[in-house]
Amino acid sequence: MPGYEFFGDEEKKEIDDVMNTGILMRYGFDAQRKGNWKAKELEQKITETFGCKYAQLTSSGTSALTTAIAALGIGHGDEVIMPAFTFVASFEAVISVGAIPVLVDIDESLTLNPDAVKAAITSKTKCIMPVHMCGSMADIDTLKNICEEHNLILLEDACQSIGATYKGKHVGTIGDAGTFSFDFVKTITCGEGGAVLTNSESVYIKSDGYTDHGHDHKGADRGADLHPFVGYNYRISELHAAIGLAQIGKLNNFLSIQRKNHALLKSILTTIPEVTFRKIHDEDGDSCTFLTWFLPDADITADVVAEMRIQNILAGNFYWFDNNWHYIRKWDHLKNNGFLNNQSEQLQQQLKKYSIDPFHLSDAIMGRCISTAISLTWTQDQIMEKGEKIIRVIKKVLEDKYASV
Ligand SMILES: *Cc1c(COP(=O)(O)O)cnc(C)c1O
Repeated sequence: MPGYEFFGDEEKKEIDDVMNTGILMRYGFDAQRKGNWKAKELEQKITETFGCKYAQLTSSGTSALTTAIAALGIGHGDEVIMPAFTFVASFEAVISVGAIPVLVDIDESLTLNPDAVKAAITSKTKCIMPVHMCGSMADIDTLKNICEEHNLILLEDACQSIGATYKGKHVGTIGDAGTFSFDFVKTITCGEGGAVLTNSESVYIKSDGYTDHGHDHKGADRGADLHPFVGYNYRISELHAAIGLAQIGKLNNFLSIQRKNHALLKSILTTIPEVTFRKIHDEDGDSCTFLTWFLPDADITADVVAEMRIQNILAGNFYWFDNNWHYIRKWDHLKNNGFLNNQSEQLQQQLKKYSIDPFHLSDAIMGRCISTAISLTWTQDQIMEKGEKIIRVIKKVLEDKYASV
């Protein structure tokens, strides 16, 4: 899954280019940098690789989301509909601009359930934010139609699905804006970093300024720049961008390895009739960073997870239902108003609902779901061994269950 598994001379060479001049900042120092513009070059590569008009690099995926949300004009009191299964960064970004995260159920694609989205629309709704979780895509056409019908913004959190496509287009490039994360464990990494992708010149110009204190980047030097609006510092450094440049050159290789390893592991798990697989809205577009599979019910799944832990084969397998970072069940800090500073009454009221109304639909799905992270370094033999060990555990649990009935 993560690009860090394949670091090599390419990353070192890009970093050397930067260190040879010592200019670690992405803006200015034109003479001293001797033609090295790693962040600019990576932005150009991102637009070419993923097929969008503009890309703005940021310091993280979280700041990419925050930037996109601000650039799309979403702010104080606006409601953003998003899934209850995602990484915490998705709601953090929404809250950071004063907007309200409205969390709704997912379906067997582990992404936004369109019916739940429709039911959550109010007069305050401004944006629908699907999250393309675990390498695969949300039901984008259906969500796009809902956006058009209700005049809403579509913002794709594609942080976890770099390289996935939907009907031939890269996820992250289809909505009004999309975001990538290049943090250490993502498909390609900068160490830390992120990007806003968009086809809108206006969203791009706003993202460019917002990530650099509102600089318009039109002056003869930084001091001569004007600031047409308020921004912050969400800049990426040249060192991080340099690593990203080496990594983006390896993306196609990463994806083809992931797809091959994914297919082999899936073919092994398929031999158990009780195992079913995640719904993928466009199978050809799966980036295959994870293989996500279901067992018949939550009890069996919990037992399989427990047995995998006992047999020491749980590493790399994620039972999100019990996971602190990715599913609302364990987000007590959010549900209990766990903020360091004052938050609006509107936000507090919204968050209170989450402890009162459980997410039964999502629980029924997440409770029987396990995602196996696909490594780039696995050999064929290792995959066979892993698959067979998992199968043995599942069979043992199923036999124990049925024997005790
Ligand atoms: C990783 C991730 C982010 C945030 O990215 P960082 O670069 O770690 O800030 C946001 N959303 C999702 C779904 C992610 O997986």
